[in-house]
Amino acid sequence: MGDAKFGRSSRGRRTAAIRSHSSRTKLRGSSAGQGKTYSRRSQWFMKNAASARRLVRQRAGERCEYCDLAQSSFPLVSFHVEHVVAKQHGGSDDLGNLCLSCHWCNLFKGPNLSSLVEGKLTRLFNPRTDSWSDHFVAIDGRIQGITEIGIATVSLLNMNDPDRVELRRLTTNS
Ligand SMILES: [Zn+2]
Repeated sequence: MGDAKFGRSSRGRRTAAIRSHSSRTKLRGSSAGQGKTYSRRSQWFMKNAASARRLVRQRAGERCEYCDLAQSSFPLVSFHVEHVVAKQHGGSDDLGNLCLSCHWCNLFKGPNLSSLVEGKLTRLFNPRTDSWSDHFVAIDGRIQGITEIGIATVSLLNMNDPDRVELRRLTTNS
């Protein structure tokens, strides 16, 4: 009888302990949810970063500003908003230092600002300050550099990789 009474009492305490634990868990869960809210400064930054990306895309006409491939050729992969002068070289996040780049050009360019043409250090094409047609022509899907800057950029960014040439042939009239 004494044992039975102890047993009930013990179960009662255990139940109370479990209830107490679950209510604390709920509280923790809701406070973690509130932790997902962002500060006004972060919200401002994200909103401006998103609008900068949108502007860069529109300005580029949804094409890679280096090799002229169209974003529409890659429905599953978004082109990159790239820093023309990489941040590690002091490049800013201003629109005047951003361009739209396909994943290939972005990968091959990396933080480079120049390359060698016949042993001569030559700067790369800058989509913000240079005119594409001053430095390149597109012939049957191939991009040809017509200045040292164009030649350096075509070579470093591997613009005439056979897959990219074929894609240009299929998607443009050049
Ligand atoms: Zn490209």
